[in-house]
Amino acid sequence: MTRRKVHSVNIGKVALGGDAPIVVQSMTNTDTADAVRTAMQVADLARAGSELVRITVNNDAAAAAVPEIRERLAKMGLETPLIGDFHFNGHKLLSKHPECAEALAKYRINPGNVGRGMRRDSQFAAMIEVACRHDKPVRIGANWGSLDPDLLARTLDKNAALATPLPLEEVNRKVVIDSALDSADEAVRLGMRADQIVVSCKMSRAQDLIAVYRELSARCDYALHLGLTEAGMGSKGIVASTAALAPLLLDGIGDTIRISLTPEPGGARTTEVQVAQEILQSLELRAFTPQVTSCPGCGRTTSTYFQELTDTIQRHLRDRMPVWREQYPGVEEMKVAVMGCVVNGPGESKHADIGISLPGTGERPVAPVYIDGERSTTLKGDHIADEFQQMVESYVERRYGLAKA
Ligand code: SF4
Repeated sequence: MTRRKVHSVNIGKVALGGDAPIVVQSMTNTDTADAVRTAMQVADLARAGSELVRITVNNDAAAAAVPEIRERLAKMGLETPLIGDFHFNGHKLLSKHPECAEALAKYRINPGNVGRGMRRDSQFAAMIEVACRHDKPVRIGANWGSLDPDLLARTLDKNAALATPLPLEEVNRKVVIDSALDSADEAVRLGMRADQIVVSCKMSRAQDLIAVYRELSARCDYALHLGLTEAGMGSKGIVASTAALAPLLLDGIGDTIRISLTPEPGGARTTEVQVAQEILQSLELRAFTPQVTSCPGCGRTTSTYFQELTDTIQRHLRDRMPVWREQYPGVEEMKVAVMGCVVNGPGESKHADIGISLPGTGERPVAPVYIDGERSTTLKGDHIADEFQQMVESYVERRYGLAKA
């Protein structure tokens, strides 16, 4: 897969576009004016692997809190760049709060929510002027839920005058692309460099997003932020996001991704980071955490033991990553197999770096373990899970500890 050639944009110390890996980002849902809670959530997202974190900056209190959020993160040893999300009043907030403008690493500007008529141009220009003065990149982020009303009206009028008018959904797609690209080009005319601009066109339907980004990527060489907006909750949001992003990522389109999941009540905000990482890792575009291959189970696995072991190993791998990442470079590429019976168990285990084939119903109660494609040992008795977990630990130390040396 060849990545599309785009400008490289520096956001704080994070490189986006160019030859940089695809960047994972997320957004907080705390009240930004509450600097303590917002800093804590940014820290959670960053520790989960979010390389950029966006925070809403919607009023004076939020803008005033941004420098404190930045300071609190510094005290926690976190340099994760913060992106300010501005709508309607961004021109005022950025001018009135220069410490906020400085503390942020990038500004997100929605061209549909900048203002109307003549005020739109001057308010957009005011935001770009602040960005240039502070040497900050911007994302021109159009969203089909907040299309530029003037541009939409003009495009609809032109379309209605055609002998064969385009269907409304195609007009919407055209407006969202034109809105983003016209605004990005305007930012360049106002003094920004192309390598200070990231563009996005968020759509909430997978097919719209795919069509829009294919056209967008053909029409510009700005770095692209990719994500399905308003993806939804739980498996619906995860599947819709994956279905929308995968074809584009495999075509080399997209330089940073965000998964817009509605959190389940009481659910962790960090789920969106985990999903983004898993999409990139499933497509073999980046590696973050060792992956567990496990079969779905069937009538040959009538106890829950196999599911429990898979869950235990998966959690163990994720929990150990903060330490392993430092001590064992390359461990994120490791493949582990946990299989339910002898049908595919030995074969799949041999393909993994380390794998276990559990006994299915009626099989001899033994569990062969394979390491680097060879049968290493056979576990039996009441402590198979603990012993296998220990074998995974030893394997990581032996293989990736050596890689470090
Ligand atoms: S490996 Fe065995 S337990 Fe797993 S799905 Fe296949 S037949 Fe069923």
